[in-house]
Amino acid sequence: MEIYSPVQYVTYKDFSFYLKRDDLIDPYISGNKWRKLKWILIDAKHKQKSHLVTFGGTYSNHLVATAAAAARHKLKATGFVRGEEVTNELLMLCKLYGMKLIFVNREAYKNKTDLFSFYFAGDEGAYFIDEGGAGALAVKGCAEIIDELPAMFDHLFCAAGTGTTCAGLLKGINAKKLDTQLHLISVLKGGDFFSEYIEEHLPNLNQLHVHTAYHFGGYAKTSEELLKFIADFAMRTGILLDPVYTGKMIFALYDLFKKKFFDQHDKICALHTGGLLGVFGMKDKLDAILR
Ligand SMILES: *Cc1c(COP(=O)(O)O)cnc(C)c1O
Repeated sequence: MEIYSPVQYVTYKDFSFYLKRDDLIDPYISGNKWRKLKWILIDAKHKQKSHLVTFGGTYSNHLVATAAAAARHKLKATGFVRGEEVTNELLMLCKLYGMKLIFVNREAYKNKTDLFSFYFAGDEGAYFIDEGGAGALAVKGCAEIIDELPAMFDHLFCAAGTGTTCAGLLKGINAKKLDTQLHLISVLKGGDFFSEYIEEHLPNLNQLHVHTAYHFGGYAKTSEELLKFIADFAMRTGILLDPVYTGKMIFALYDLFKKKFFDQHDKICALHTGGLLGVFGMKDKLDAILR
């Protein structure tokens, strides 16, 4: 399938860089979630599965992406949602696309394979997709991003939640023997585990740089400084970032630029992994700073 994901030259204040616009692939099967689902969907069809079953939090881009992808491929979809039953913009989209939602408490949510077998043991057509789409097929899909980039970049930046997308990017970089340095921006506290996780997927971590100082307090935590940066970036470039992933990543990129981390002639690219529905998870806080 043809996709639209151009590499754009972006100028923000005194800093210019390239941005790979995976956010433009699809509004709801967005960014890296599209990349991850691509080979998962091919595998599900190959195995003649009819029902995608997956997992996510209440503001999960992955749940929305899976719901939309399932509908487009004429598959059923069930999403296990962590926590008490609630509703919001993202879960509403899941339901619009026909996904059945099952809310489970945090304890039960921890064991995803148990949940899957408990509910769907008798369903031959059910296909298990891990939270966030994580797995080898997802890595394979994300590696393809590298094939679409001009080979000239000295640095590539990407936000990391599980690190699956970065594992794919590094795989692509290694496969093409590029000199590009990959910068992983951890959006969660204690991101030191990423190297180990990525090493499970591929052995050569020489070109990986893990940045752990830009989590803003932890996963989905934020600060006024970050939200103001996101608003300023949108106003000056016309490009939206989300507060959970890409906002932290571009904040880190600009911060490193200001700290003279790069050489003057370095060619820098960032991957926009989409996920823009994430702004709805912080609409009150965003509203407050936009007053
Ligand atoms: C899910 C998501 C990520 C995290 O990707 P991982 O492969 O889990 O590291 C990054 N950016 C956006 C916008 C996402 O929705």
